Amino acid sequence: MAEQANPFESLQEQIDDASEYVDADADVLERLKRPERVLETNLSVEMDDGSVEVFKAFRSQFNGDRGPYKGGIRYHPGVNRDEVKALSGWMVYKCAVVGIPYGGGKGGIVIDPDDYSENELERITRSFAKELRPFIGVDRDVPAPDVNTGQREMNWIKDTYETLENTTAPGVITGKAIESGGSAGRVEATGRSTVITAREAFDYLGEEIDGASVAVQGYGNAGWIAAKLIDELGANVVAVSDSSGAIYRGDGFDPRDVKDHKNETGSVSGYHGADEELSNEDLLTLDVDLLVPAALENAIDGDLAKDVDADVIVEAANGPLTPEADDVLAESDTYVFPDILANAGGVTVSYFEWVQNRQRFYWSEERVNEELEGIITTAFDDLTDAYEENDLPNFRTAAYVVAIDRVLDSYEESGNWP
Ligand code: NAD
Repeated sequence: MAEQANPFESLQEQIDDASEYVDADADVLERLKRPERVLETNLSVEMDDGSVEVFKAFRSQFNGDRGPYKGGIRYHPGVNRDEVKALSGWMVYKCAVVGIPYGGGKGGIVIDPDDYSENELERITRSFAKELRPFIGVDRDVPAPDVNTGQREMNWIKDTYETLENTTAPGVITGKAIESGGSAGRVEATGRSTVITAREAFDYLGEEIDGASVAVQGYGNAGWIAAKLIDELGANVVAVSDSSGAIYRGDGFDPRDVKDHKNETGSVSGYHGADEELSNEDLLTLDVDLLVPAALENAIDGDLAKDVDADVIVEAANGPLTPEADDVLAESDTYVFPDILANAGGVTVSYFEWVQNRQRFYWSEERVNEELEGIITTAFDDLTDAYEENDLPNFRTAAYVVAIDRVLDSYEESGNWP
């Protein structure tokens, strides 16, 4: 396999591509390409057997021009400084493209959570929260879940922060369980915005989503919810995968049934209703109407892109296509609708959660979904308007043009602080 693209370099290349179409000086644009600061820390945590283990952890605060830094916390063995920097930068432009008042941040711990007990994970998470405490805050930096973290970890971080600060501050973190100040609709939000984007994209391209064949790579929070909701729109989910491999069924799966199987066995592989098992690479090159990468970054590089046969790609994951893959797909008939729009439902409902926490007044799930629908469809229209007005090469560049313009406006309106 080709050498993995460095996601931070991919981000910088995406900004460079869009910069050609943005009216700003090169030196001003330069500050939009690197984080303001990165916290790197080593957590020493006692294990259940009394030994002490050290974990490297990061928090990158990329840009705060439009509001508090915002972005998830990832637990994965592959977490590294450049990945966290890239993910925090993508958050800046994601929040800007959907017009919510946040900057971008991201954090992570280098860990495979499967190797640790729940008690150990709690101690590791609380240790990270203690390190993060001086950097985060309701108006400063508001973390959220990402790969391998969820409500449980968010609740621990909130509790650690509140205990150390001797206050209640549910808005210091989002993605919490409902009784700890979470929002209705947050768990489904990322998959929901992916499916709203897919629906709008098909409509824009004059295609029918009803009956469309769909392959979904990754069956975690983002992927499984996207599969469920697109099935509800009448599409046929013919292939899904997780880190164990992929499964295919020509007539389409019932995504709920596959999820039950994954809950029982830990993976989608071995599902009784599949026609055949595939490799992850096979899934990404299937001849389908829609491909939804919902696993990790760099899923499709320039080489693999040559074999991609999907008509439309809607990115639920962050950074699943390398810039080389974008270049190859721009030359083919595949339309790519970018992550910073498609998966923005997570951060948008996180924003709703934060608003509700500040007001101590909670919305119904119906209201959350309605407000989300409005934000994503408006952002989709802004993106396609920019695409057409500027005659842009692809929808990713259009998203960055819209987002960079918004970040630059707020920077220029505030003036420079030395
Ligand atoms: P998750 O941990 O719930 O799920 C990840 C899934 O990907 C798992 O099913 C895992 O088995 C699978 N996977 C890992 N490597 C794979 C591979 N090589 N091939 C196929 N499947 C593989 O994580 P998630 O929250 O669903 O996040 C997935 C992506 O969506 C990430 O890029 C994340 O940054 C992005 N995202 C998530 C949210 C959110 O709210 N959860 C919001 C925005 C973006």
